[in-house]
Amino acid sequence: MSYNVNEKGYYGEFGGAYIPEMLYPNVEELRQNYLKIMAEPSFKEEFDQLLKDYVGRPSPLYFAKRLSEKYNTKIYLKREDLNHTGAHKINNTIGQILMANRLGKKRIIAETGAGQHGVATATVCALMGLECIVYMGEIDIARQAPNVARMKMLGATVIPALSGSRTLKDATNEAIRDWINNPVDTHYIIGSVVGPHPYPDMVARFQSVVSQEIEWQLQEKEGRTKPDHVVACVGGGSNAAGAFYQYLDETDVNLIAVEAAGLGVDSGESAATSALGREGIIHGSKTLLMQTDDGQITEPYSISAGLDYPGVGPMHANLFATGRAEFISITDDEAMNAGMELCKLEGIIPAIESSHALAVFKNRKFKPEEVVVLSLSGRGDKDLQNYIDYFKI
Ligand SMILES: *Cc1c(COP(=O)(O)O)cnc(C)c1O
Repeated sequence: MSYNVNEKGYYGEFGGAYIPEMLYPNVEELRQNYLKIMAEPSFKEEFDQLLKDYVGRPSPLYFAKRLSEKYNTKIYLKREDLNHTGAHKINNTIGQILMANRLGKKRIIAETGAGQHGVATATVCALMGLECIVYMGEIDIARQAPNVARMKMLGATVIPALSGSRTLKDATNEAIRDWINNPVDTHYIIGSVVGPHPYPDMVARFQSVVSQEIEWQLQEKEGRTKPDHVVACVGGGSNAAGAFYQYLDETDVNLIAVEAAGLGVDSGESAATSALGREGIIHGSKTLLMQTDDGQITEPYSISAGLDYPGVGPMHANLFATGRAEFISITDDEAMNAGMELCKLEGIIPAIESSHALAVFKNRKFKPEEVVVLSLSGRGDKDLQNYIDYFKI
């Protein structure tokens, strides 16, 4: 049994491409070409070169000594927070901008919620000199002013989504509409392992550089390529997909996916998709999502903007349904305290998304001889105001 995708884009019963007829040519062009292009030596060379010289890879695999002592186990942090632009998202946008180049696309569109993916997309568009249009809910534009400013400085046009709840879901609808109207010259950069096939697989492959590095870095440090556990937070699931990728079919490696429970799984203010979600279709793929009895998507909530998503990518839906990965949900309070603990013990201020993953140590015991690799998906600079407000600093 493989936990990876099949040719039709399914992970078990999840995935596929549930798209309107008018989107078919765009998605089909990508599907027919993405593996071929990614296998080209010149593509690989350019991707690797940019990851090295522009992003700053490999990101360190850091043995967190004081954190390990506190929890009496061996903890390594995969430092995606040290990447250019401060998170793992750039791995995917670099890959997709090169893909767009190879497909002859001149115009890039993206949707963004908190603005992190918008910034990562605007960054690579500036790098390549391509036009960049980012759709963003009007409410999010007001809430995330610094990221809006960053995107503008990087040359992107930010277009407000004015319909519905004026947040991420509405921005996604606008981006899809744009793509339907501009099928020839435009590439749509999706920011996580979500969307119609081939996006989840393509994004997972671009992010898999994370676990490829973990393998040789752990070999250097521990004399083996496989940790006992890999821990990562899950919004749509791209940093987790990257950290898990090389280990998906290595069932002696335990995978731990951490979701945001918000104010509590049963509070009505949560983003714990595996605990609360049921099978449904969102953004063109069949997956687990939070919905009402009559199938309306439920508004998610998390203190962390990056985890505030009502669904999860199809790879993760399958990892949950098959029991291949362990799923844990962490509240706002648990995450904030775990984030603060990392500051004090290791001198690292994590993104609040990553703080959710860090809270695993208070919620679950590991053995002293076990090796735990945790994906530190991003840095906390963007979350400073949240930390200030929460701790009254
Ligand atoms: C966007 C983001 C996430 C959540 O997205 P995934 O696709 O689940 O990885 C997690 N951490 C950080 C720092 C982010 O910016």
